[in-house]
Amino acid sequence: MHAIVAREAGGPDVLEYRELPDPTPGPGQLLVRAAVAGVNFIDTYKRSGVYAMEYPHVVGSEGAGEVVAVGEGVEDFAVGDRVVWTEAPGSYADLVVVAAREALPVPDAVTFEDATAVALQGLTAHYLCTSSYPVRPGDRVLVHAGAGGVGLLLTQMIVARGGHVISTVSTPEKAELSRGAGAEHVIEYTALGDLSHDLPEIVHGLTGGEGVAAVYDSVGKDTFDASLASLRRRATLVLFGGSSGQVPPVDPQRLNAAGSVFLTRPKLADHTATRSELVERATEVLGAVAGGTLRVRVGATFPLAEAAEAHRALEGRATTGKVLLVPDAAASGTPEQEA
Ligand code: NDP
Repeated sequence: MHAIVAREAGGPDVLEYRELPDPTPGPGQLLVRAAVAGVNFIDTYKRSGVYAMEYPHVVGSEGAGEVVAVGEGVEDFAVGDRVVWTEAPGSYADLVVVAAREALPVPDAVTFEDATAVALQGLTAHYLCTSSYPVRPGDRVLVHAGAGGVGLLLTQMIVARGGHVISTVSTPEKAELSRGAGAEHVIEYTALGDLSHDLPEIVHGLTGGEGVAAVYDSVGKDTFDASLASLRRRATLVLFGGSSGQVPPVDPQRLNAAGSVFLTRPKLADHTATRSELVERATEVLGAVAGGTLRVRVGATFPLAEAAEAHRALEGRATTGKVLLVPDAAASGTPEQEA
């Protein structure tokens, strides 16, 4: 099989398209022929060394495809089943070993591409607005990077819960997409002179001087101060990523000064720690896609061999919605490729 290997910690250039032996599933595992792999920011942290990893390693953790073999003791899945997953190390590959505990059935009405687009990012958006700060009808909240993979899904879910979204984006094209997802006010934050001063001023202007009930901040280093200053009294700052860099240590007194606010730094694994919670959240998210109430945007698709290009685009702020990789074998099986 072919796979993308990070040979050492570094930039996208460390990613190599290599031929590797086909893996075999162990007890409790499935072997899946991948139709697509999902590209996520965490893949870039693991490639670059922000997160401690062993090298070389096959990159990726998310994808979807058809089960081609099952290991000993697997009862809930069989050869031919369509599955999606968020947590299978080595997912940038033609063949992926997936723990049965991590596999989720893909409804017939949902394509592999759409299922992957709402796997890691959709489950994240779901826990953010239902658990980290559960949005209530009438709440006004701020979502950074509103046209991103998580941003577009999170905005739709907040609106579905009766919330009102103010979003930030870097370009007019992204502003249009964010509005399309339901954001009522979209701020081009890269056009502001002093983000930490100007953004809270605009947010307070839009909320009658009150501030927002929550900020969902995945940008991190560049936006943290502005996020804190945009909150209303006793509001929640949900810091869930660092697309611009990680936030340095914070003095708790700043939460006092900001109005007795709450700061949380959550991750998906703590919100899908049991099989039942994973399945519950996934059933809601995939069900919403199947039912047409959650719209999916795949912003870019690259051949698996061009994973480095996909990483450059994601890190370079050039993407919107989901970024996917398609293995050669899967691509040559599509009608478009055969035509
Ligand atoms: P996005 O599609 O949101 O891409 C990142 C976006 O961040 C960019 O498009 C850009 O939007 C914005 N951005 C702002 N500053 C920068 C910068 N300096 N460099 C690059 N991008 C920047 O990615 P994802 O939806 O995949 O993930 C969003 C974030 O959420 C990531 O930080 C990721 O780590 C985090 N995450 C956290 C999870 C958790 O459970 N904690 C789970 C999933 C994701 P714009 O151009 O509009 O500014």
